[in-house]
Amino acid sequence: MSNKHTLNKHFIGGEWVVSANAVTMPIINPATAESIGTLALGNAADVDNAVRAARKAFASWSKTSGRERANYLRAIAQQIRDKAESLGQLSSLNNGKPLSESSMDMGDAAATYEYYATLAEQLDSRQGTSVPLQADQFSSTTYLEPAGVVGLIVPWNFPFVTTAWKVAPALAAGCTVVLKPSEVTPLVEFELATIAQTIGLPPGVLNIVGGDGAGVGAALVDHPDVAKISFTGSNRVGERVMQAAARRMANVSLELGGKSPILVFEDADPQQAAELIAGGIFFNCGQMCSATSRLLVHRDVAPAVLERLKAVAEATIVGDAFAEGVTMGPLTSANQLQTVCGYIERGIAEGLQLLTGGARLSRPGYFVEPTIFLDVPSSSALWREEIFGPVLCVRTFATEQEALELANDTDFGLAATIVTADAERARRVARALQAGHIWINGPQAVFPETSWGGFKRSGLGRELGPWGLQAFLEVKQVTQPVQ
Ligand code: NAD
Repeated sequence: MSNKHTLNKHFIGGEWVVSANAVTMPIINPATAESIGTLALGNAADVDNAVRAARKAFASWSKTSGRERANYLRAIAQQIRDKAESLGQLSSLNNGKPLSESSMDMGDAAATYEYYATLAEQLDSRQGTSVPLQADQFSSTTYLEPAGVVGLIVPWNFPFVTTAWKVAPALAAGCTVVLKPSEVTPLVEFELATIAQTIGLPPGVLNIVGGDGAGVGAALVDHPDVAKISFTGSNRVGERVMQAAARRMANVSLELGGKSPILVFEDADPQQAAELIAGGIFFNCGQMCSATSRLLVHRDVAPAVLERLKAVAEATIVGDAFAEGVTMGPLTSANQLQTVCGYIERGIAEGLQLLTGGARLSRPGYFVEPTIFLDVPSSSALWREEIFGPVLCVRTFATEQEALELANDTDFGLAATIVTADAERARRVARALQAGHIWINGPQAVFPETSWGGFKRSGLGRELGPWGLQAFLEVKQVTQPVQ
């Protein structure tokens, strides 16, 4: 694989267009901290150029049938499946995740385009449906129309996947797109442009502008011709996006942070619990919005679970994504390394007891040990704030009520996992948890057909499923007196 990647152009109107801004930033391999290429930092002129192309394309794309759009979406999915190996390698090179994880990402992305192809087809028969009225002297008909040009802004933790969750439903709805990938992981994201060209997607339907939040992201949010912004990222930036969108009353969807709990009850199998706990916090080096970073474990089963959890954590093979047997890669950026190490140092300074980990690896790259802190008070920043790294905080509980109160005592509400042998309790607890996605006795499986999004400060709206499509549609009602 080439080790110099030059991304000095944006994909606008179906062509590669030299960036209006000559300033570049390095693209980093987080396993070595070395530069593997450069990314042009686009600016407001690039964004304006892309929005114009998307606006022009909207005139005809919005008039295509859902069936036609479905054909393009299936072609994108097929390309991803055909190129899955090389796309996965690019993702791992730039993000650091083990190849097995980036391979799963490519499967998830392809499945998302396939799912929204089906929903695009179904959209044709959902047009012009009549609404039964109590007032029988009137008739009314519903149409579902594309929102317009949409701005899609994504983070770096699941490149190609969070992107698919937005691009696929937006195109299915008949919207045209300006996508801003994270400046941290542009490598694999720009491959979507090549795929669009290969399958003959009409020019301007999908545009990609590379750059940072200040230069490209903010310009996209502020652009008067962008009807809707769909943003995934941090709460800090999400708040700014919502404020900026409010100034021009633009529609926004926000997928933000989390501080999700995993609840392990006294009847749980300790080994199964340990594996689910580890998967929920060490997969993708803990850089998951849904990471179950707070473990609530019943005090009777805590010793057995923690003994096994320590063993599973210490068996994690931390290393370069391309090395044999590696199960956890580095953190994705120097910034993230600094943030995560800052929380670990804070935990140690607060006198928290470490079950395992707590150090950076003494080698190049952004590697940290899987880290577990015990008996973390709920007043600690480690318990309350999103760390976004492989750092687990543990507390014990005595009753189901106490577990629920601790679980729901958070600003966030994205996800939760329940581990118990009691099916009735699992259902009861799932209904009582304030979170958008609950897993029972299983890993964090997310399917294109199910919803994604959170309660409270974890965001606004839902992605995936029919809700993901609805987010890019305007509802039009046509009402008239019966003649
Ligand atoms: P971030 O907020 O720093 O950046 C996200 C994106 O926003 C990037 O593309 C960035 O360039 C852009 N951006 C930055 N400033 C901007 C501005 N002023 N206007 C417009 N765009 C701007 O987040 P990150 O560090 O890339 O990602 C990590 C965060 O994402 C975590 O908080 C995580 O929980 C969250 N996340 C949420 C979900 C979810 O589905 N809820 C999924 C993945 C990640």
